[in-house]
Amino acid sequence: MPYISQLKAIVGAEHVYVDQESLHHYGHDETEDFLFLPDVVVKPSNAEEISKILILCNQFKVPVTPRGAGTGLSGGALPIHKGLVLAMERFNKILHIDDQNLQATVEPGVVTQYFQETVAAQGLFYPPDPSSRGSCFLGGNMAESSGGPKAVKYGVTKDYVLNLEVVLPTGEIIWTGANVLKNATGYNLTQLMIGSEGTLGVITKIVLKLIPLPSKDLVMLAPFASSEQACAAVSAIFRAGITPSALEFMERDAILWAVDYLKLDMVLTDTDQAHLLIEVDGNDMDVLMKEAEIIYEVLQEFEVGEILMADSAQQKVDLWKLRRNVAHGVKANSIYKEEDTVVPRAALPALIKGIKEIGGKFGFESVCFGHAGDGNLHIFIIKGNLSEEQWNTSVIEGIKELFRLTVALGGTISGEHGIGYVQKPYIEIALSKTVIDLMKGIKKVFDPNHILNPGKIFE
Ligand SMILES: Cc1cc2nc3c(=O)[nH]c(=O)nc-3n(C[C@H](O)[C@H](O)[C@H](O)COP(=O)(O)OP(=O)(O)OC[C@H]3O[C@@H](n4cnc5c(N)ncnc54)[C@H](O)[C@@H]3O)c2cc1C
Repeated sequence: MPYISQLKAIVGAEHVYVDQESLHHYGHDETEDFLFLPDVVVKPSNAEEISKILILCNQFKVPVTPRGAGTGLSGGALPIHKGLVLAMERFNKILHIDDQNLQATVEPGVVTQYFQETVAAQGLFYPPDPSSRGSCFLGGNMAESSGGPKAVKYGVTKDYVLNLEVVLPTGEIIWTGANVLKNATGYNLTQLMIGSEGTLGVITKIVLKLIPLPSKDLVMLAPFASSEQACAAVSAIFRAGITPSALEFMERDAILWAVDYLKLDMVLTDTDQAHLLIEVDGNDMDVLMKEAEIIYEVLQEFEVGEILMADSAQQKVDLWKLRRNVAHGVKANSIYKEEDTVVPRAALPALIKGIKEIGGKFGFESVCFGHAGDGNLHIFIIKGNLSEEQWNTSVIEGIKELFRLTVALGGTISGEHGIGYVQKPYIEIALSKTVIDLMKGIKKVFDPNHILNPGKIFE
C-alpha cells in the first residue's frame, strides 16, 4: 500500500491503523454477521485532513468507506471493496448551542443521546431518537436519515437539519445551505446529503434545529389478541384526532426475547399476541389525560387486553428499555435479516398478514416490531435452524415477495435504515429504472472516480 506513508503524514502515524484487531473491528457493523476487512483505518480530526485523504485516494483509486459508530443495519459502513475506512469518532464535539435561535452546531461523531441530553439540560429538544441513540453518531443519523419512536409526532432526522459542512469525494469543502429555517436558494443540497449513505460526501459539521422540550408525558402499554388487531388500532388512534409522540408495535416474541435478554420477570398471558407502546407528550397534564382517555376508548373497539398506564418515571423508563432492547433480544437468539418496510399506516394490517403468509410459503419465521405510527414495520427474519441453502435462496425469494407486497400497498422497502449493501439487490422493486439512472448520474457528478462508499445503494 504505497499511500500509507502519505496518510500518516496527513493525520499523524498514531491515527493510521493496519493491525488485524483494528481491521476486524472496522470490518463489521450491526448488519447480520458480515465481515469485510479494510486495508487501513484512518481517524482524521478535521475537514482539511479528510480533504487531503480524499484527494490522495482519488490519485490511487482507493475505495473510502465513511464510518460513524457502526450501528447501521443495511451495511452502509462495511468496506465491501476493502480500501480505507474513514472512522469519524474524533469528530466528537458539540461546537455551539445557540439558545437565541434554537440551533446547535455539532461534529458528526457526537453520540445522539449525549447530544439530546446536553440540549435537554438547557430546556431544548432534539427529537430524532433511533433506538440505538446511546451509541450511534449524529453523522450516521444524517447519512441514513434516521428515524426512531418520536418521528411519528416530530419527524425524522431530515426535518432538523439546516446546514452541513461536507467534504466532497474530490476534496472540495462546501457548506450545503445556510443556518436558516427557510431556504429557497437553488437546489437543496442539504437534503440531498441526508440519506445519501456516505456515497456523495463526508459530513464534517452539522447545524441542527432545536425545539422547546415538552415537560410532561404519559406512557401506556396495550396488549392485543392478534398482531392484525394491534395494527388496525394504530390508524384508528390518528383518526380520533390524536397524534401520539410515540406509537410502537411489538409482536409477542419481540417482547419475550427482550424480556429474556434483560432478565426481567414480566409474564405475558396466552392472549397477549402483540402490544402497542403509546406515549403522548406536551406541557399540560390535563390535556394529556384527555388524550389518553380518547386512546383508551379507541382501543376498546379492538380485541385489547388490560392496558397498563405507567405510574412512575421508573416504569416509563422500564417500558422504553424493553422496546429499545428488542433488537438485542432477537440478536441474542439467532442470526437474522432485518427488513425495514414502510406503508401508509392504514395498510399495516394487510402488511402484517402478508408477512406471515409469505413466511409460511417460503419457510421462514419472522418477528415484527417497529414504529407503527409511521407505518414502519421492522421484520426480523430468523435464521434459526434454516440451512445455508434455504437462507440464501428461498428466504431471498421470500424477501422479494415481501417487498413487492410492500410496494403494492403503497409503501417502500426502507423507512429509515437505508439501502446500503444488503437491500441493494431489491432497489428495482421500489424504484423505476429512470429514477435509478438519475441517482447514478448524481453520484457520478459528485464522485467521478467512484471512490466514496462504492457498491452501496446500487452497483
Ligand atoms: C439496536 C439498534 C437499534 C436501532 N434503532 C434504529 C431506529 O430506531 N431508527 C433508525 O433509523 N435506525 C436505527 N438503527 C440503525 C442505526 O443505528 C442508524 O442507521 C444510525 O443512524 C447509524 O449511525 P452510525 O453512527 O452507527 O452509522 P454507521 O453504521 O457507522 O454508518 C451508517 C452510514 O452512514 C455513513 N456515514 C457515517 N458517518 C458519516 C459521515 N460523517 N459522513 C458521511 N457518511 C457517513 C456510512 O458510510 C454508512 O453508509 C438501530 C440499530 C441498532 C443496532
